[in-house]
Amino acid sequence: MSTVTINCPYCSGEQTVSTHSNFAPFYVNCPECARRFIAEPTQLGITIFRDGEAPCCSDPDCRDIEMGDSGQD
Ligand SMILES: [Zn+2]
Repeated sequence: MSTVTINCPYCSGEQTVSTHSNFAPFYVNCPECARRFIAEPTQLGITIFRDGEAPCCSDPDCRDIEMGDSGQD
């Protein structure tokens, strides 16, 4: 696990997040504007998507549905 600095796609506010080694996308809640966006770690850094604009493979919720084995909800 390591940390990277990212910018909110809505307000450009900077924040530091922890990334995991499996490159799974995750949601980030911006502390400045309180909006949610998606951060997807990649081998080259980190890709940011606005909530709802990520392709399914980069959307945590959509991935859960596609994989269908989370057993939640
Ligand atoms: Zn923000």
